[in-house]
Amino acid sequence: MPSQVKEKNDKGSSAEETPTFPPSGHLKKQAHIPDMGTYRQMYNRSIHKPEEFWMEVASEFYWKTSPSGKVLDYNFDIRKGKIFVEFMKGATTNVCYNVLDRNIMEKNLGDKTAFYWEGNAPDNSSAITYWDLLKQVCKFANVLKKLGMVKKGDRVAIYLPMIPELYAMLAFAGFSSESLCERILDYGVFRGEKLINLKQIQMKLCKSVRKVCAFTVYINMEMHPVANCIVVKHLQGKLNNQNEGTLQTAWNCEVDSWLDELMMDASEECGPVWLDAEDPLFILYTSGSTGKPKGVLHTVAGYLIFTALTFKCVFDYHEDDVYWSTADIGWITGHSYITYGPLANGATSVLFEGIPTYPHVARFWEIIQKYKVTKFYTAPTAIRLLMKYGNEVVQKFDLTSLKILGTVGEPINSEAWLWYYNVIGNQQCPIVDTFWQTETGGHVVTPLPAATPLKPGSASFPFFGVLPAVLNEHGEELEGEAEGYLVFKQPWPSIMRSLYGNHERYENTYFSKFPGYYVAGDGCKRDKDGYIWITGRIDDMLNVSGHLLSTAEVEAALTEHLAVAEAAVVSRPHQVKGECIYCFVILKDGKKFTEQIGEELKKLVREKIGPIATPDFIQNAPGLPKTRSGKIMRRVLRQIARNERELGDISTLADPSIVEVLFSQRCEAA
Ligand code: ATP
Ligand code: MG
Repeated sequence: MPSQVKEKNDKGSSAEETPTFPPSGHLKKQAHIPDMGTYRQMYNRSIHKPEEFWMEVASEFYWKTSPSGKVLDYNFDIRKGKIFVEFMKGATTNVCYNVLDRNIMEKNLGDKTAFYWEGNAPDNSSAITYWDLLKQVCKFANVLKKLGMVKKGDRVAIYLPMIPELYAMLAFAGFSSESLCERILDYGVFRGEKLINLKQIQMKLCKSVRKVCAFTVYINMEMHPVANCIVVKHLQGKLNNQNEGTLQTAWNCEVDSWLDELMMDASEECGPVWLDAEDPLFILYTSGSTGKPKGVLHTVAGYLIFTALTFKCVFDYHEDDVYWSTADIGWITGHSYITYGPLANGATSVLFEGIPTYPHVARFWEIIQKYKVTKFYTAPTAIRLLMKYGNEVVQKFDLTSLKILGTVGEPINSEAWLWYYNVIGNQQCPIVDTFWQTETGGHVVTPLPAATPLKPGSASFPFFGVLPAVLNEHGEELEGEAEGYLVFKQPWPSIMRSLYGNHERYENTYFSKFPGYYVAGDGCKRDKDGYIWITGRIDDMLNVSGHLLSTAEVEAALTEHLAVAEAAVVSRPHQVKGECIYCFVILKDGKKFTEQIGEELKKLVREKIGPIATPDFIQNAPGLPKTRSGKIMRRVLRQIARNERELGDISTLADPSIVEVLFSQRCEAA
């Protein structure tokens, strides 16, 4: 394993010293983007002639009518007026038609498997073809029509686990306006060994919630009565056998009905509704890592085209692939890279209902072997979790089908990167470290697997149409090697159009700090070779004696210690230094926290980054507060470090109970 991190005597990055891994040789022959020359040439075209570039991509899809005016129109400069982005306005299409009907009719993919569904329990699985999927979508759309509930422009909330009934999402492609009509609910679902009654959770929410407009409904909304609630019988039978009496669901005859009963005699044919390219497609809430989640609005055409092209290039998609993203469909990764991107390409994907550690810690590897998965996409948090259990667990399974590995969600530390590369990929699979956000709709900074030489921990270069810059505190663009704010200078097709119901918050959050730029909210470093390294959220930066340090670099240093599985770093006020460094570390299975480990960790960070970064506090943590999408909520950790109890909105925490545990074990003195 190459490790060449040199000693540093002041704050500095270890980026330059990291070894580079060549792109995959065996992918090159049939790769869509086979080398850096091709990438650069296409990239330049996408930046200088975006309209031409994207219309060429769009030509692979079906359009009822063409754009009426400019292909791309926008204003990114708040000083010149309202911020807006319009892509292919006036063109009409339907997303569902493009991802299902078109694949079946034009590409003859009707009998191809769209999803292998793998249940929470290993003996629970099924497969659904493109034809099956289209029929279900049509039937469901007819159910809704018959109930007279949904029309163009209506907003619909879906609250479901990872089960095939999520096809419902496509039946709605494009309904979005004022009134909330119904929810599609599941009766109950297992996550690992925990039985969750989604209907009940959702009912509680209905009381305090109005205008549920995303696929996740724990967002704060105003009061509004629910007109209809359609419920899926997912665990029927199973529930009776294993958990008789444990799951009781309240039933309101006036609004509730069973999905299977409604579907029974619905017709399998339903013509598409044609929408404008700039009509809303969906509203989705961000993870809430930094504050209250934001309702990000995406529109039809740009989102379809960008997710389709990124999926094709970043995972180098070919027709015999079996692709698996472990994300939840309720998050943007599940939208862009389980639903729209893969289906737009006619891909076969795995849809997994469960969790990585149930019924055993090799569940992921077992599923890869079972379906001969070729492209695998997960989050650094899952990799760090599974690393804890050692290599033997993995080596019992045949993972030779794998060709490309991907990560998303957080910066990946080099320990985790190398483990993923060596142990899961057997040094044969490039890792695409994809940087993007709910707001960007799709990958914006990412390696391309057959072209980009990889540096562990770097998301590398911008995708087509994406023009990043690095700004300093004064908003000046920095050239060459630099560190600062990551911003984007022009729109790509799938950049969000607004924050739902609050365009002002949209302009304030993303466009007002540095007029003329979209401000991502993440810090980054550009190294001497032009590689971009995401250093974490600006809100989480540490300011020690006037030196700005990123959370990612300190955390990466801590996880280089053999005993450490995961680390999270925050600042705490300090009389002399302004702020000092407070670390939470999770140890690997079987390791015990000692004073000596604490000292070794301090020394390690000092050596890797410099004396300025020496931690003042190290707390041994049994777990970390994470969002449901697996991101560390550092703002909560910061409050634990400071012993501040007013936590604000923590509704997206996966397990809120960890917060109390960490409070009770916090370090008082260094
Ligand atoms: P909120 O905006 O509500 O605080 P969030 O930013 O966690 O929530 P998401 O849109 O789910 O919501 O996450 C996007 C963020 O995830 C990015 O801004 C970045 O901080 C982080 N991220 C995603 N992918 C990567 C990656 N490959 N490398 C580094 N960071 C990443
Ligand atoms: Mg964010």
